[in-house]
Amino acid sequence: MIDIIIVGAGAAGMTAALYALRSGKSVLLLEQETIGGQVAISPRVENFPSLKQIKGSEFANNLFEQITALGAELELEKVIEIKKDGEIFTVVTDYNTHQAKAVIIAAGVKHKHLGLPKETDFVGHGVSYCAVCDGAFFKGKEVALVGDANSALQYSLLLSNYCPKVHMFTLFDKFFGDESLVKALKSKENIIVYPDTQIVGLIGENELEGITYKNKNGEICEHRTEALFIAIGQLPDNKSFVNLVDLDKEGYIIAGEDCATKTQGLYVAGDCRTKKIRQLTTASSDGAIAGLAACAYITNLGIQK
Ligand SMILES: Cc1cc2nc3c(=O)[nH]c(=O)nc-3n(C[C@H](O)[C@H](O)[C@H](O)COP(=O)(O)OP(=O)(O)OC[C@H]3O[C@@H](n4cnc5c(N)ncnc54)[C@H](O)[C@@H]3O)c2cc1C
Repeated sequence: MIDIIIVGAGAAGMTAALYALRSGKSVLLLEQETIGGQVAISPRVENFPSLKQIKGSEFANNLFEQITALGAELELEKVIEIKKDGEIFTVVTDYNTHQAKAVIIAAGVKHKHLGLPKETDFVGHGVSYCAVCDGAFFKGKEVALVGDANSALQYSLLLSNYCPKVHMFTLFDKFFGDESLVKALKSKENIIVYPDTQIVGLIGENELEGITYKNKNGEICEHRTEALFIAIGQLPDNKSFVNLVDLDKEGYIIAGEDCATKTQGLYVAGDCRTKKIRQLTTASSDGAIAGLAACAYITNLGIQK
């Protein structure tokens, strides 16, 4: 039986694996998409101590190489349920069932949607939640973007490198991101900001052809575009774990700095838990704490037997 199963191979999950493996435990990571989680799509990270600047994908790959060299196992499976029977955890995925002595949930967060009609239909047909993944498809074309915090600022800057104009729609007349990003954005002449606006509709049959938005006077205006990048924040998706953890009203798993949940042997790390700051540093910190806590829990199980 595996010692520790980790749900999610983002920064938190992989850091938890790093600490657990270095403590001599066997680790299986279960990842539903690709390794790295959110940071894998970040064009550049400039606030991880000692790394002046690094591409998010490079950060993720380095960490993955580090843990696989130590013996981490990875399966690309989506966890749909975790059960505990006595001291054994059973983790059910879309393909398999695995058993472990301890489990760490490091499932991160997902992109928020605007909730507009046709929004889901247009994904891959003009609507995108990831400029790093899809921006290049619109090279040489004017694009639109909605959002006002760090992800939106980073996406706008990236798109402005190869799109003649980036039309950026913000709900208020200010940004909620790092000052350095705001400064960089203000220096770009091809980023046009539409403050105090709300996107209210998507135009097009099978492909996005434009958007409608409400301006600060309450008038509905039309803006023709083939691309809308949506960067309005994230939400957790922890419903699969409610039998063993408590969630707050937004859906984050309730846990303190010790990363312990209400179930013994079950820990939570990273963006998916209740916390104030969701960043790589805090996700990595949680990963270290949860990884070591899971190791101590397993060691104590051994002593009890
Ligand atoms: C565009 C962008 C830019 C960013 N830039 C920075 C930056 O410059 N500096 C910084 O510090 N932070 C940045 N962040 C935030 C940072 O990336 C996150 O705080 C950090 O990655 C959180 O790590 P995590 O491991 O908790 O979660 P995540 O990175 O979200 O990883 C969670 C993983 O769990 C997987 N998963 C979820 N549910 C399941 C399931 N049921 N079964 C299996 N797998 C599952 C997901 O697929 C995902 O891979 C950025 C985020 C974005 C989106």
